[in-house]
Amino acid sequence: MRLKGKRALLTACAQGIGRATAIAFAREGATVFATDVNEAGLAGLPDGVETFGLDVLDGGAVEAAIDRVKPDVLFNCAGVVHAGTLLDASDEDFDLAFTLNVKSMFRATRAAVPGMIERGGGTIVNIASAASSIIGVPNRCVYSASKAAIIGLTKSIAVDFVKENIRCNAICPGTVDSPSLHERLRATGDYDAALTAFIARQPMGRIASPDEIAMMAVYLASDESAFVTGQACIIDGGWSVA
Ligand code: NAD
Repeated sequence: MRLKGKRALLTACAQGIGRATAIAFAREGATVFATDVNEAGLAGLPDGVETFGLDVLDGGAVEAAIDRVKPDVLFNCAGVVHAGTLLDASDEDFDLAFTLNVKSMFRATRAAVPGMIERGGGTIVNIASAASSIIGVPNRCVYSASKAAIIGLTKSIAVDFVKENIRCNAICPGTVDSPSLHERLRATGDYDAALTAFIARQPMGRIASPDEIAMMAVYLASDESAFVTGQACIIDGGWSVA
């Protein structure tokens, strides 16, 4: 029970990394509040997990959720992938990437930090990506720019609140087997070739399961990582060292 006594608010839990993390947090004894804009997709999470609809683009709703939950652990997971180079991206694509991927974390964390200070501390875990300031990945221009911004946000929060016993870390996954990954593979027009290429780019010769990312989230949310803050924790099957 590595998270016993902790109240955790998570975004984007209908599928993929967010869902796996909600399940792992519950298994480790946290009081879990699992949210997603797709409220119906939250069905089937374990007994005891409280679920509710939350669109991270709705700043007022995010603040109300933080106010109600009073989280010790904030897991910011919601994100969108824009596929393409700089030349394929419109101003709207850029704005959506930054609003959904970065500004939502900024707002949620800004809402959560005062309560964490009052209660003596807390932990924030942000989902970034290896495709960021860590490695350049083809056709992920605005996505990678937004994920790099998450790393900057994470380090700043970590430094500013270290004396208040608040830790903030980012997880930087390589390719993870989530429902949206399969949509992106289908969108290339040749699913099998794209899957082969996505697998090949990771030296371990496979993609990650969402559960593997969730295990890193458990560690970063728990007191086991009490000396870890401001880090971009890479979990990518060796992609970034190749
Ligand atoms: P996914 O993309 O399959 O699912 C995303 C979830 O986010 C969905 O349940 C969706 O309903 C929810 N969501 C979308 N917009 C939302 C909003 N406005 N408010 C609340 N929820 C919203 O899941 P995934 O692939 O595990 O991605 C989760 C996170 O992990 C994202 O930030 C993504 O960028 C990041 N990531 C994924 C991979 C990968 O290969 N899958 C790799 C690195 C990082």
